[in-house]
Amino acid sequence: MDVKVENKADLLRKLPSVNELLLHPDVRALAAEEGPASVTDAVRKVLARVREEIAGGHLDAAGIEVALQNAPTAVQRQLRQDLSLSLKSVINGTGVILHTNLGRAPVAAAAVAHVQQIAAGYSNLEFDLATGERGKRDIHVDRLFRKLLDEDWNGAKQSVSTIVVNNNAAAVLLALNTLAEGSEVIVSRGELVEIGGSFRIPEVMVKSGAILREVGTTNRTRLSDYENAISEKTRLLLRVHRSNFEITGFAQRPALPELAELGGKHNLPLLEDLGSGAFFDLQSVGVSNEPGVFESLRSGVSVVTYSGDKLLGGPQAGMISGNSALVSRMRSNSLFRALRADKLTYAALEATLLAYIKRDYEAIPALRMMRLSKPEIAARAQAIAHDFQSPHISLEIIDGASVIGGGAAPSAVLPTSLLAISSSKSNPDQMASRLRQFDPPIVARIEDGLLLIDLRTVFPEQDQLVNAALNTL
Ligand SMILES: *Cc1c(COP(=O)(O)O)cnc(C)c1O
Repeated sequence: MDVKVENKADLLRKLPSVNELLLHPDVRALAAEEGPASVTDAVRKVLARVREEIAGGHLDAAGIEVALQNAPTAVQRQLRQDLSLSLKSVINGTGVILHTNLGRAPVAAAAVAHVQQIAAGYSNLEFDLATGERGKRDIHVDRLFRKLLDEDWNGAKQSVSTIVVNNNAAAVLLALNTLAEGSEVIVSRGELVEIGGSFRIPEVMVKSGAILREVGTTNRTRLSDYENAISEKTRLLLRVHRSNFEITGFAQRPALPELAELGGKHNLPLLEDLGSGAFFDLQSVGVSNEPGVFESLRSGVSVVTYSGDKLLGGPQAGMISGNSALVSRMRSNSLFRALRADKLTYAALEATLLAYIKRDYEAIPALRMMRLSKPEIAARAQAIAHDFQSPHISLEIIDGASVIGGGAAPSAVLPTSLLAISSSKSNPDQMASRLRQFDPPIVARIEDGLLLIDLRTVFPEQDQLVNAALNTL
């Protein structure tokens, strides 16, 4: 269609003003329901679109008539888009259990219920019901962490305290700042890691005001390297979990007990950034060499930091557990106030920890997913494949591996059965994109040119939805 320039000006003049369109009965009804501000905004967007179409020469007089007739509907559609929630539930078909982009650990049903109750009303968050006086928010979970961590350490009964901050990055920052501001912290060069999302040990060190003293080499650091670096400026030894990579081959670093002993000899605490921090025996799911919180403390580490939404399977949070005197210094640091966790986090964490105390691992979704066996997953995949019919798409079940993710056990893989989807008509990227447009969106993974869905990370009650989505491809 070719609309002449002089006609465009005439056409533009035909358009109603924002105020005129707002007076349309249908639009007024919308304003009464959704509030005038968002309706005015939607009207502006709709009129701007029509103006653009005129300017682009895509609308003539007749087209404008139609556009104006449809304007109230367009306003309604615009409103629905503007006022919809941006954060949506998705189905995780990737097989990565702690997928950072998909929100890491799903929390337990009991945690959700507790959050709902605590969030919707008032609570004794910082109120001691026995005395009627002000209380501390961390006591709600500290008592549960004690149940999980208190023990006779090396024969001597040691009391372990835990405080909670916003996330593990905050926990590392608080611990370094409290224990070593203005002084040196000795770290192996093989542990100066970057975790996704720009968490880098050297940078956190700078922010904390502590001074990084690197020792050893990337692949080998000896106990003597630490020992030779100790001076009157040293305040802390730091061990960092390598999380997202491994150093294999010609590699060496001191065992934790050796490092702890060296610290003890020089009166230096040993801080370990565990990253994940498991309270669950990962060997039982075939994952070895992933240190737990308990094991680290038993090895003599003074203080450990770890995330709430990684292997713990709880809400986003950062925990600092260890020697009570050191943890108490962190609690009095004014940074603790700035980094503190909110009541929803405490509620979810408390319910999650209770599941651990009861050893009810099935209640924690991330652990439940880790414990799923390959035959269980294969049976569900077969049920979906059995119900599937399409002339263009073939659905196969192949062997594969799920990953824990979240920087835990980087090389550990859990054997699984995958749904492998291929089509003569569309490529894997196109199909993956269509699955993401499903309601709820399904996130699959592409490997070796195949579109894959790993049911390990799909909740069984979502299998039907996966089935329905595959049938729309
Ligand atoms: C994941 C991780 C962090 C960051 O933890 P967040 O809870 O995401 O802030 C820090 N250190 C290590 C070793 C990690 O694996």
